[in-house]
Amino acid sequence: MDLKSYIRTIPDYPTQGVQFRDITTILEDSNAFRYCVDRLYQRYQNTAFDALAVIESRGFVFGSALAYLLHVPLLVIRKKGKLPGKTISANYKLEYGTSSLEVHVDALEDSDRVILIDDLIATGGTVCAAAELIRKLGGDPVECAVVIELVDLNGRENIAPLPLFSLVTFHEDET
Ligand code: AMP
Repeated sequence: MDLKSYIRTIPDYPTQGVQFRDITTILEDSNAFRYCVDRLYQRYQNTAFDALAVIESRGFVFGSALAYLLHVPLLVIRKKGKLPGKTISANYKLEYGTSSLEVHVDALEDSDRVILIDDLIATGGTVCAAAELIRKLGGDPVECAVVIELVDLNGRENIAPLPLFSLVTFHEDET
């Protein structure tokens, strides 16, 4: 499948100069969505790990379908102030702004091997903050998987040595 053709690009959203890669057009096509989840399933069906960590909010969409198929626990990493229990937090810089992620303190067992899921990696700041939270809980992030990798923003290098698996790559000048 030509997955790229299902991703809509919206120029100058949410701020001038950002090429927003919109995954709602994947979700609106049942074959394209199934293709994404199936490819992630193929990647991880024979991997030994204990939990999937999904990053709010578009990571939830792909990650929850994958957790169902793989029959593994789902650990939610949310934006500040959304989780009701006791949390720890990590700050990070976005391509457009700054933010903070949180996780419940009792969400993992010590030494749990965790795979992180988000829709897209740009600079890698979000994934770094999520991986930091997992490590603070005593967990071991083993890989990060995304649907879209914006290669010019060097996310892959910035999250190293954490490996990155992506389904498609985009350069900034692609429309
Ligand atoms: P970063 O922390 O720079 O890797 O940014 C990744 C996060 O910001 C992901 O959760 C994305 O959903 C969102 N994001 C950043 N840049 C874009 C973009 N150009 N198009 C769509 N989403 C983006």
